Amino acid sequence: MQDDYTNHSDPVPGADAAGVRTGEGAGVRQERPRFRPEIPDHPDRRRPAYRSRRRTPADRILPILLLALLALAGVGAGIGIGYGIWGYEAPYTVDLKAVKTPDWIEQKLLRKNIFSRPDVSMREVKNIVVHYIGNPNTTADSNQRYFDSLADQDPEKGGTSSSSHFIVGLDGEIIQCIPISEISYANGPRNFDTVTIEVCHPDETGKFTDASYDALVKLTAWLCEELKLDEKDVIRHYDVNGKSCPLYFVEHEDAWKQFRKDVKAAIKAQ
Ligand SMILES: [Zn+2]
Repeated sequence: MQDDYTNHSDPVPGADAAGVRTGEGAGVRQERPRFRPEIPDHPDRRRPAYRSRRRTPADRILPILLLALLALAGVGAGIGIGYGIWGYEAPYTVDLKAVKTPDWIEQKLLRKNIFSRPDVSMREVKNIVVHYIGNPNTTADSNQRYFDSLADQDPEKGGTSSSSHFIVGLDGEIIQCIPISEISYANGPRNFDTVTIEVCHPDETGKFTDASYDALVKLTAWLCEELKLDEKDVIRHYDVNGKSCPLYFVEHEDAWKQFRKDVKAAIKAQ
């Protein structure tokens, strides 16, 4: 090949010098490399002399394979990310922090403290738990102040831990003590995925006033709607750990069933 291109591309002017040298010793081919540096720039040089080796089938397949691998990796990553997002979100999609408290609920949030508002995030709500206060004829406001006063206990000495997200009062007033994006201390061991409602009552029977009952139905139905739950997810403290709370609904199973029916109707009416 070298011979070939040399013969074709040797410029005519250079032939003199070349001729002299070749004349001295015929066939002294070693001299030729002296001219080679000029050859690559010559416009007439034949490409085949400098062309890289022929492309093999492997050369053609390799980029395709690489592209295919990249595409596969891309699709795989896409599926992985998608699964990650949907797999995480699918079971529970309620943004608890985004739930806005309506104006018929008065917010009087407790001070953050280890005894009643531990400032622990709640990720998911599975049940709404109904309680009775157990302290006859006390108001929603006085019970809110009691929960807040627990903050004044000495953490070194320990003390009483208790609280509720909501308190329904004797006249149907509703006070919120803790955001539903945080846990309350009332439903152990289910504090981490339950919302608490405490209801005031006039006497030892634990039976709620009509005003309290109606407010409780309204509040529970609103929570079901916001938390994507239904009346079957509304339970008694008794169903969590066997406590006789709320007393009247534990002793009167039919009244409890009726309450759930009323909640169901209120959810539909919303
Ligand atoms: Zn209870």
